[in-house]
Amino acid sequence: MRVAIIGAGVAGLACAERLDSLGATTQLFDKGKRPGGRLSTLVLDDFAWDFGAQYFTVRDPRFADRISRWEAAGHVARWTDGPDGAWIGAPTMASFLAASCADRDVRFGALVQAVHPVEGGWQLSGPGWEESPFDAVVIAVPAEQAATLIGLHDLGMAREAAMVRSAPCWTLMAAFPEPLPGAPDVLRSAGAISWAARNESKPGRPSAECWVIQAGGEWSARNLERDQEGVAQDLLAHLAELIGAPLPEPIFLKAHRWRFAMPQGGNGAPLWNADLKLGACGDWCMAARIEDAWLSGHELADRVVETLGVSATPVKTAEVA
Ligand SMILES: Cc1cc2nc3c(=O)[nH]c(=O)nc-3n(C[C@H](O)[C@H](O)[C@H](O)COP(=O)(O)OP(=O)(O)OC[C@H]3O[C@@H](n4cnc5c(N)ncnc54)[C@H](O)[C@@H]3O)c2cc1C
Repeated sequence: MRVAIIGAGVAGLACAERLDSLGATTQLFDKGKRPGGRLSTLVLDDFAWDFGAQYFTVRDPRFADRISRWEAAGHVARWTDGPDGAWIGAPTMASFLAASCADRDVRFGALVQAVHPVEGGWQLSGPGWEESPFDAVVIAVPAEQAATLIGLHDLGMAREAAMVRSAPCWTLMAAFPEPLPGAPDVLRSAGAISWAARNESKPGRPSAECWVIQAGGEWSARNLERDQEGVAQDLLAHLAELIGAPLPEPIFLKAHRWRFAMPQGGNGAPLWNADLKLGACGDWCMAARIEDAWLSGHELADRVVETLGVSATPVKTAEVA
């Protein structure tokens, strides 16, 4: 059984790991240059900023089991100075997903523009390429992009995706020549800034004073189309206000706009059409959390296997560390 998975974020890779462990063959396609999607770290010499997801928590025993093996291999760590129960990828947020890609067939730089039924299954196509046949297709991309890929084939599923609305998030990466006076490692607020964190308080990060500052959903939506320099200056001023002291002159500033950061909606489960052998997973199906994205991919793999009848006995007992 050959399954195409579109998207090598948490959800797509969780689905691939589970399918592989149940005896399927998977092929992943991602338009980006690296795995992880919204788990992103910018590293510049001795500076680093986790500018997407900040940390994750672990509640479900299936996720806990996988995390304990990644911990043993050194790909995730507890963030003891962070929020209660916080885990992070180490040394970057997506390190555990990069490890999962190591012996897996993942094609990066492969934008999938369409999926079509062909003789013997499904075909995927993008700019200047096409590949087939696949017995099943899993779409593990954000809701807004998933709706377009699904639309021609399953209107009900496309409607579920189209109903999801994602809140944007302007994120500022800043570095300072000295520690910010009197600032705790993590700040939360209900104002313009919803979260600010000293990145070097996470294990395995360089020691330079690097801050990740996230604007709240409402502020981000109101300022969505502004240029990044103006947003950077505004967020810096809001940070000074939050800390209650003037900031030293920054030595690096860069604002990143996440247009589709945090999905709201979703029906609490991945989507699967057993007749078409077409499904979708991702945080938008469940909740905007890394753990939920992982669970959506893991659970969708079980649905795929139920339909296609691959052996339910794991053929690989341990996924790659
Ligand atoms: C700023 C920010 C802060 C966050 N903070 C937290 C947090 O602290 N804790 C937490 O648990 N969660 C947090 N989240 C949410 C968390 O990042 C997501 O829930 C999770 O990463 C979603 O994973 P995913 O696999 O569903 O989607 P994604 O990570 O979006 O992965 C989708 C992948 O699909 C690829 N793709 C998209 N379209 C195509 C296409 N047509 N063809 C090929 N490839 C395609 C993309 O390149 C991407 O790699 C945050 C998110 C953001 C943006």
